Amino acid sequence: LGDAELLRYSRHILLPEIGIEGQRRLLASHALVVGAGGLGSPALMFLASAGVGCITLVDGDTVEVSNLQRQLAHSEAQLGRTKVASAAQTLNGLNSQVKLRALALRAEGEKLQALVQEADVVLDCTDNFASRQAINRACVAARKPLVSAAAVGFDGQLSVFDVNDAASPCYACVFPADAAFEDTACATMGVFAPLVGVVGSAQAAEALKLLCGIGSHLRGRLWMLDARRMHAEHLLLSRDGACPVCASQRENPAG
Ligand SMILES: [Zn+2]
Repeated sequence: LGDAELLRYSRHILLPEIGIEGQRRLLASHALVVGAGGLGSPALMFLASAGVGCITLVDGDTVEVSNLQRQLAHSEAQLGRTKVASAAQTLNGLNSQVKLRALALRAEGEKLQALVQEADVVLDCTDNFASRQAINRACVAARKPLVSAAAVGFDGQLSVFDVNDAASPCYACVFPADAAFEDTACATMGVFAPLVGVVGSAQAAEALKLLCGIGSHLRGRLWMLDARRMHAEHLLLSRDGACPVCASQRENPAG
């Protein structure tokens, strides 16, 4: 690390759990963040400020006035621009050393698979069930750790799904694709502004720890936060041996 980097990241380097080696790992890492809204804003900002070397951000939406209540990467001056262009400008202002790839599209299909393949860690900051399932399938196929979060109303959830760990379920083990989950979108249900800050920041924390090799307490656990009482609990998650997404992948380990 050069002098400028030693100074910029000194408060991380001082942590024995991270140190110079951990910071080197962050600088050499590539994170894929799908969704640049309420969760994606703080997640992206902490990944960039912490010096994750390359960040790919993907979102097909544009900045609307109703986003500004909680989506901190965007500002009034960015209304009408794509969220990825707006967020990229914010992130570049935080840390111009980070290599940013901003893609104004809805991540799906082969494109999504290719993006996941290139990343060291994937953050699901989307707000709908179909995207979550698609991102999980891509992560299982590419054997990439997935930091998956959700926030609606006053309720937040966060977990890490990593099929490289034999005991860890995938997202679909816990939330099967054929289950009749209703999308509880912020647009209809509302969302408490700081909730996405808390959960999106925790999502960045899990991703940074994975990249540094510190591990993750949330592998195989679901962290559930009720911001009304500011009460959190952990649910132990287990694998579904018949999971249509990950069971066959585990039997035939690829590379
Ligand atoms: Zn599974």
